[in-house]
Amino acid sequence: CFIALEGGEGAGKSTQARLLADALISRGIDVVLTREPGGTPGAEAIRELLLHPPGEGWEAEAEALLFAAARSDHVARLIRPSLDAGKWVICDRFVDSSRAYQGGAGGIGDEAVKTLHRIGSGDLRPDITVLLTVDPAAVTRRLKARDGGRSDAIGGRSTAYHTTVAETFTHIAAENTDAFATIDGSGSPNEVHARVFSAIEPLIGR
Ligand code: C5P
Repeated sequence: CFIALEGGEGAGKSTQARLLADALISRGIDVVLTREPGGTPGAEAIRELLLHPPGEGWEAEAEALLFAAARSDHVARLIRPSLDAGKWVICDRFVDSSRAYQGGAGGIGDEAVKTLHRIGSGDLRPDITVLLTVDPAAVTRRLKARDGGRSDAIGGRSTAYHTTVAETFTHIAAENTDAFATIDGSGSPNEVHARVFSAIEPLIGR
């Protein structure tokens, strides 16, 4: 079973991915917990290039290709082999992050991201995607408070950018409600985990 967690920065994806992995492991399930961009040595090296770009940073097209290359390595070397071995894979972000960030907010468009995913990763789709929703303006306020009021934007990007990301995620989930669980990311980690787990529990033993 392949589960992706999606959502904007500050939605608590990493915390929820870990809590979900622990809950599944405690039920005897063999779980691989991984993340994007990254998850394999090659993809982690590309992650460094993406998060700390040399020079002036990447044009949108180059950035999308790097994300797709990282995903391709991750799928080929870790995700597919794990699924083939009967394991459950929980991935913190997957192709829908590229559809929301590079495709929607970054402007390269949805069709381009889908084409890269077909070429790079054989169009692999999660069985279920947990979309954690948070208000980008609230996240900006929280992160700003945390760093002493220095940053005006998350990761150097505007609230408008993050709003487009959030809207694109909502649109993607609405297109395919069967494969998505859209979950309110507000509240304590344990409260959110309870919501996430009740969406995943029906898949156990299926
Ligand atoms: O998952 P996390 O929030 O740590 O993502 C790391 C960074 O990569 C974030 O700043 C996010 O905006 C960015 N990202 C992106 N496009 C993706 C995935 C992540 O711009 N497809």
